[in-house]
Amino acid sequence: MKITRITAIPLSYRLPEGKTVKMGIGATTKRDTIIVRVDTDEGATGYGEAHPGRSPGAVASLIGKTLDPLLAGMDPCNVVGVWGRVNRMQLSSHGLGAGAALAISGIDMALWDIRGKVANMPLYRLLGGSRKRMPAYAGGISLGFQPPESLVEEAREYVAAGYRAVKLRLGDNARDDILRVQAVREGLGPDVEILTDANTNYRISDARRVIPALAEARVGWLEEPFSSLDFGSYRAAAAISPLVPIAAGENHYTRWDFARLLEDKAVTIFQPDLSKTGGITEGLRIAAMASAFGIPVHPHSSATGINHAATIHFLASIDNGGYYEACVSKLNPLRDMFGRTFQVGTDGCVEPLDRPGIGLDIDEKIFAEFPAIDGPGYVVTF
Ligand SMILES: [Mg+2]
Repeated sequence: MKITRITAIPLSYRLPEGKTVKMGIGATTKRDTIIVRVDTDEGATGYGEAHPGRSPGAVASLIGKTLDPLLAGMDPCNVVGVWGRVNRMQLSSHGLGAGAALAISGIDMALWDIRGKVANMPLYRLLGGSRKRMPAYAGGISLGFQPPESLVEEAREYVAAGYRAVKLRLGDNARDDILRVQAVREGLGPDVEILTDANTNYRISDARRVIPALAEARVGWLEEPFSSLDFGSYRAAAAISPLVPIAAGENHYTRWDFARLLEDKAVTIFQPDLSKTGGITEGLRIAAMASAFGIPVHPHSSATGINHAATIHFLASIDNGGYYEACVSKLNPLRDMFGRTFQVGTDGCVEPLDRPGIGLDIDEKIFAEFPAIDGPGYVVTF
């Protein structure tokens, strides 16, 4: 079997005026994604998802104009070989760093979809996992900056829907962040897990103020207090309290970024995103490395059902998997355009789809409803 064509399809959804969610990286104005379709000479077709970065047009162009000709004719089941060729000819020799990692992520995911269809196995089985139930937390673009009262009310909605863990957005300012966490702990009681995410918007002085309060509120982790390469601040934050693990990974790319995190010993929860860090092939490598150091993997996931479904398969197949980040965003029709890809039960858990490959029916007609809008999806408005 041979790869005949790789097509990148950027899609967008503009949020209605006044419906933005504010968090540490700005306020959302639109949602973007890139669907990657890989066609083969034997009729099998796979779909993957590449994260758009803040420039969906650029990543789509890299996939369609540079990586498509590079990979034409290769065996789509040879995921290690495809990854290696992109690494040699693009990632390691001509850089583009994150952009190339986003691009290979979507291609690799589509190749795994093909492998599953050819083997007639759902992805979790192909990867050696089982159809088990796995805990989910209420995440995605939700629980943003707002008064404590309405934040508690929003968090209660998710608990009523079955979730036993919720993730709050921090990175506003230390005082308001602390008040919000305290209000949610008080409002939800002791049995709900509270997780927090500063979306890279802290300085170490903020972390020094906030982390003791997070320890007091028994918060499960503090995610991305700083930008991904600010290793010194991560080390300093990890030393503040052993009770608040530092999490990161959605902005770390490939096994080499994660190897550096392992060397530093500051980040003790890994959150690779399969649509960013290099796809399923690279996600498995990162998870295996982390497993040897006792580090759990709680993957970041976003945008469409393709990445969500692939992430649940991945979690069902690694021995150090943690929470699935369920997207509870109020306005993300991209998540639902292929139907429902996950369902949280009263036990707060999800399980993988049970059809060959990633397990979705993709009807491309729906793409016409989400024409691409190039440019960034967040603006800083505060
Ligand atoms: Mg995050």
